[in-house]
Amino acid sequence: MEFFKQSILELIIQTSTNLPPDVRQAMKWAMHAEAPASQASQALAIIGENIDMAHENEGAICQDTGMPTFEVHTPVGANQIVMRRMIQEAVAEATARGKLRPNSVDAITGKNSGNNLGPGTPVIHFEQWEQPEVEVRLILKGGGCENKNIQYSLPANLDHLGRADRDLEGVRKCLLHAVWQAQGQGCAPGALGACIGSDRAHGYHLAKQQLLRTLDDENPNPILARLEHEVMDEANRIGVGTMGFGGKASLIGCKIVAANRLPASFFVSVAYECWAFRRLGITLDAKSGPITGWLYRDPDRPVEKLIAQNNAFRLTGREVRLEAPLTEAQVRALKVGDVVLINGRLLTGRDALHHYLLDHEPPASLDGGILYHCGPVMLKEGAAGKEHWRVKAAGPTTSIREEPYEADIIRRYHLRAVIGKGGMGKRTLAAMKEYGAVYLHGIGGAAQYYARCLPRVLGVHLLEQLGVPEAMWELEAHDFPAIVTMDAHGNSLHEEVAAATGAELEKLAAGATSH
Ligand code: SF4
Repeated sequence: MEFFKQSILELIIQTSTNLPPDVRQAMKWAMHAEAPASQASQALAIIGENIDMAHENEGAICQDTGMPTFEVHTPVGANQIVMRRMIQEAVAEATARGKLRPNSVDAITGKNSGNNLGPGTPVIHFEQWEQPEVEVRLILKGGGCENKNIQYSLPANLDHLGRADRDLEGVRKCLLHAVWQAQGQGCAPGALGACIGSDRAHGYHLAKQQLLRTLDDENPNPILARLEHEVMDEANRIGVGTMGFGGKASLIGCKIVAANRLPASFFVSVAYECWAFRRLGITLDAKSGPITGWLYRDPDRPVEKLIAQNNAFRLTGREVRLEAPLTEAQVRALKVGDVVLINGRLLTGRDALHHYLLDHEPPASLDGGILYHCGPVMLKEGAAGKEHWRVKAAGPTTSIREEPYEADIIRRYHLRAVIGKGGMGKRTLAAMKEYGAVYLHGIGGAAQYYARCLPRVLGVHLLEQLGVPEAMWELEAHDFPAIVTMDAHGNSLHEEVAAATGAELEKLAAGATSH
């Protein structure tokens, strides 16, 4: 198996940097679906450019390179122990090369292993088959969308949809609810992998496995095929839209499997996948391990760019330029819907830093500052003694995780702006109104695009203690675009979209009842 490790490394790099054709096709549909000049279509223009840049530069599509999950089929007699070791070595090497972010932390201490290895990471499932070759499929699914996975135990009462019974109508309600509850936090437009039945643990496993199907395939079970089509159609009428900004593209795929259940249980397990749907596969020669073919790709079809000149993100001249330190008056002048371009100093901070700030002073001043919810992929470059850090991938992370802390940080340290994705809750909104601060929505997953907007690293704090993604990085921004979605007057686009989409769900539920 001399070439096996190299083949796996190539699979990881391609999966992390080059979206498969079926996902590209679905994103093209999304680009056509959203109304021109809407916030959703501006977001999609940035996403499309990001996808193209990731392929051209062989850079990570999203900074959250996700939980590497390998599904391996081997012929009888293949040595799975050696394969497991080589997969782990390839994961560590891809991390060292900046293709994967160090993303694996000790579950208790929170210490980052630095190489994406550790108990339970990466996830590797082996299965034997009667083919002569080895097949390896890889999915990289990030934390933002993973946090929006959901499991229903029927019967249940669902927000805006009422009672979901133990039948296909109940399942349909669960799947619509799954899209609604994700809003923009899982970087919509997303895709659902779903399992009807099984038990709690295996149901989730089977749901995730549905994400290995191509988005354009047809379910061989005609009942499930019809349900998949119905959910696709209805979910795209709810109005969540790209990034939860409101719009027509909420779902790019719905894949359902049914598995026998215990008579007493009726689970519907849902794996929610974001637009950065990184999934590829290879076949390998079972003796020495070179790649013999790619799954999901058509060798005769070259990678098509998503962005043509006429649908790229363009400045209109109406953007508001911001440069920290910001004053209260500057921030109070902003309103929901404004597009801003950020220049100058940003500070990153996510879960570990917010927790740290509960009991410690910030290592760099936040007064008038802009805090970016981001765990970047960073690489040290340059000759020995002249090393410097470079931002390799740096999109926003899901902000709602910081909801328990952000209001206190705004109050205590006079923070004026937070950049993130998915929006925040009522407590943060109230603090923004009281003390004068705004929430700036970045485009989730646009890691290459934003890395280009962050050309210089000014410094780093708490690196040893918190690890690369959680450290506080001081970065210089250049025309970094974001949209005001929570302002200092108590307005929240997220609340508006959640209410409007909830009302659409109620209409769908009422329509189904009257049939
Ligand atoms: S696109 Fe969004 S949800 Fe998906 S991995 Fe990136 S940050 Fe997470």
